Amino acid sequence: MERLNLECLRCGETREVEHEPRRRVEAGECARCGYLGWALTTDLTELVRRLLRERPLGRRGLRAV
Ligand SMILES: [Zn+2]
Repeated sequence: MERLNLECLRCGETREVEHEPRRRVEAGECARCGYLGWALTTDLTELVRRLLRERPLGRRGLRAV
């Protein structure tokens, strides 16, 4: 079992999930904003964060993991 740190692509909330091999990571909705898009915290650079902030919101369901 591997633990992954995910970060909400919309509000930046972080969440730790357990990841089983060959299974999808089910992060679910963000508890804070309800968004469904998550990325690995370690994958997010300041550049990516800035691009995401400038992207129009409202595209729910986009999964980065
Ligand atoms: Zn969020």
